[in-house]
Amino acid sequence: MGYTIKSDIVVPNGYVYRQSALQPGFHQIHMHSTGNPTASVQNERDYLAGHYNAANYTHLVGITNGAVDIRQVMNTNGGAWDVGGDWNWETYAAIEFSEGSIKSQADFNKAYPAYIWLARYLAKQAGITYTIDNLNTIGIKSHNYASATGHGSDHVDPLPFLAKWGVSRDKFNRDLVNGIAEQKEETKTTKKAGIKDMLLFKADVDTNFGSKANIYFLNGGIVIRIDSVSTYNELKNSGVPFATFTKKNTESLIDANGGLK
Ligand SMILES: [Zn+2]
Repeated sequence: MGYTIKSDIVVPNGYVYRQSALQPGFHQIHMHSTGNPTASVQNERDYLAGHYNAANYTHLVGITNGAVDIRQVMNTNGGAWDVGGDWNWETYAAIEFSEGSIKSQADFNKAYPAYIWLARYLAKQAGITYTIDNLNTIGIKSHNYASATGHGSDHVDPLPFLAKWGVSRDKFNRDLVNGIAEQKEETKTTKKAGIKDMLLFKADVDTNFGSKANIYFLNGGIVIRIDSVSTYNELKNSGVPFATFTKKNTESLIDANGGLK
């Protein structure tokens, strides 16, 4: 897997466990976003270092200098003061998506799969099932759901932040349950043979049907769809980069890729 968790612990080991007199057995991964639109990952870490006695969490995910930045800032498997309710005593890990570190759709598209990956990685480590937002004690829970069911405060994160960048609650839930295919593998398997074949296919469609076809670049691979407004909107809403080609610029792209053979 291509992600690295950087250890940058700023909370004393076992702090919440001792302060709240907890018992062993931590069954939940909690999903948050920071709600601070200007703070970087480093700013959030620095703030936590001085204020962990008020609230705390175990991991930060965001973008630093253009790259995915995953920090562990507190030990796992000991509760956390993160949801503001009785599910604080179930926290194996609490993950904060650093809102202020995301400046563009490209930033979000890079960091979001890492956020999902980390949740599933920690769930697996803890033996927690890949379930999202149900009332069972064991599972992955959004802060939003903890609040809505009386197990948290009144916070609704991370859903509005995810929605702002095109990820619906449904997609978020699906991604947590199913995971997101690793980008590198897809790039390897589709990039070599992909573009020319797809452009040929598109040229064929143009010739035979006289229509425009949309070519979507998806995680380094290529997906082609015939003109479809709903498909376009679906992909746009999901934050997938796309490009629409007419017959003319398709031909120049084919030429740029070595021409028809
Ligand atoms: Zn939260």
